[in-house]
Amino acid sequence: MNKIALVTGASRGLGRNTALHIAKKGGDVVITYQSREQDAQAVVDQIRAMGRQALALRLDVGDVDGFPLFVEHLRAALKQTWGRDSFDHLVNNAGHGDAALIEDTTHAQFDRLVDVHFKGVFFLTQALLPLLADGGRIVNLSSGLTRMSYPGFSAYAAVKGAVEVLSVYMAKELGGRGIAVNTVAPGAIETDFLGGAVRDTPDLHGEFRTSTALGRVGMPDDIGPMIAALLGEDHRWINAQRIEVSGGYLI
Ligand code: NDP
Repeated sequence: MNKIALVTGASRGLGRNTALHIAKKGGDVVITYQSREQDAQAVVDQIRAMGRQALALRLDVGDVDGFPLFVEHLRAALKQTWGRDSFDHLVNNAGHGDAALIEDTTHAQFDRLVDVHFKGVFFLTQALLPLLADGGRIVNLSSGLTRMSYPGFSAYAAVKGAVEVLSVYMAKELGGRGIAVNTVAPGAIETDFLGGAVRDTPDLHGEFRTSTALGRVGMPDDIGPMIAALLGEDHRWINAQRIEVSGGYLI
């Protein structure tokens, strides 16, 4: 039986790349998107063209009130497409970037970061636990910014830090069901994140490149295959770890 992964925020960026590499390794994938339905459908089409099953569901991870309906949609989709009432791997990836100095950060910016990156990860995982198979895996996306500080990312990095702590607690509480939980913390990667800042701002790009031991900025292909591999059987004993994937940023 093929494993089924649920990857949130996989219409583009790191989630898209992860979903494609999970499929490349023989897994089936449910992806979610927030607004870009067509992009999500294109990812589904690409996965199906590889001979794997895939489908896309809409989800705002910052809206906990929407989770019960999402779970119902997921339950129905799993039954209809796979004849199953469970899935195997959860990748909590979806999220946005927002940068402001502490003195300029508004309550609205702060609340949205907390809602999407922390409260959303906490309660989406809670809502999905009845559907997550025993022996399954969870990967939560954090950021290199929890290890090093960069002005403007205090709220963002703090909620990612919360996710890292949460991941260890998830590993402890879910271990009895054979579920391993890890955090993947990417360095700066060229995606649409933060308006494509890493990719499109020459100064920033140069700074990240020269601060990275391997001498370049990260690409989605540096992350997706790693997460897909982490979900594989060979890595079953990795649990409760924060794994930074940054090419050696600021070491
Ligand atoms: P992108 O902006 O390229 O993609 C974000 C994805 O998340 C899209 O699929 C988007 O959906 C979805 N999304 C955004 N907000 C929400 C929401 N509230 N609810 C549901 N889905 C949402 O970002 P990345 O791929 O770069 O980032 C993915 C993850 O990696 C994030 O958690 C980010 O914090 C983390 N990260 C990124 C780094 C980077 O340098 N790129 C570095 C370290 C961590 P739609 O397309 O429909 O809008």
